[in-house]
Amino acid sequence: MKVIPRVENQQLKLLAFERKYSDMFWLSGPEYYNLCDFRCVYCITESQGKGTAMFKTDEIADIFRAELPYISGPKEHTLFVLNPASDPYIPLEEEMQLTRKLIEVLHEEDLKFTFCTKGTLVKRDAELLAACGEKAKAIISLSTTDEEKVKQIDGKSPSAQERIETIHYLHEKGVNVCLSIAPWIPEVSDTENLLNSIPEEVFTYVQPLDMGDAFEETFDNRRKQFSARSVFGKKYTVSEANRIYVAECNRIGNIRSNMEWRYPITADYEDAQHKYIQILKPGKHSPEEF
Ligand code: SF4
Repeated sequence: MKVIPRVENQQLKLLAFERKYSDMFWLSGPEYYNLCDFRCVYCITESQGKGTAMFKTDEIADIFRAELPYISGPKEHTLFVLNPASDPYIPLEEEMQLTRKLIEVLHEEDLKFTFCTKGTLVKRDAELLAACGEKAKAIISLSTTDEEKVKQIDGKSPSAQERIETIHYLHEKGVNVCLSIAPWIPEVSDTENLLNSIPEEVFTYVQPLDMGDAFEETFDNRRKQFSARSVFGKKYTVSEANRIYVAECNRIGNIRSNMEWRYPITADYEDAQHKYIQILKPGKHSPEEF
């Protein structure tokens, strides 16, 4: 199997995560928190733990500015992903404000950025994010509205209700907010309930549970202990999980115009590389293809 390699760039300490998808699409991720207090069982970055800061509050903006000229891709074709291996709104962010400092710089530089969080602290930055307009995309991650299941899979994350309320709050404040039903987990995710719980205008994407096997760069034995399948006593292969997901996509379809089902990560990952960031069209694939 092959994964998209990270770009090696020794000059970068904060913007250490770089990945090239095409000449027109680069990712650059400032990484500044180590580990993640939310401790989700399915975390493919294996970040579960007490979050610590890798940079100081009064230095991070200057370091970001100093490293910007050295990123590998053109800035106009680069999407900055805040703290991609952990959550940018872990509890420590309240004190350190590293995420906020970076958003301020991204806004000043008029750069595109996104982040995925389960943290309600993001509400603190609503006005700043709203000022960034379409250049900022705040992604709130939630796999199910079932609070008992949330407790089982999402460790110390805010409840489903708190995250749904966060989406409403950000939307009302004018933030470009979206719901990520990822990972979509068989027998756990209730897609229709999730869609019905958020404002109709909020874009939503669905992405299946990554069983870890396809991401050899992040997969090790710890992943097996913390996998969602062990929590629920289920053992799905990648294909089985993907087939259930595709059947769900076909059953529900695009019940909203502003939603999309992401193509599953498949065992033939090299071939599926481009499909992964493409869209799965309901009714166009049968589960047996996966
Ligand atoms: S919030 Fe994200 S980074 Fe943190 S443990 Fe959960 S999946 Fe991992």
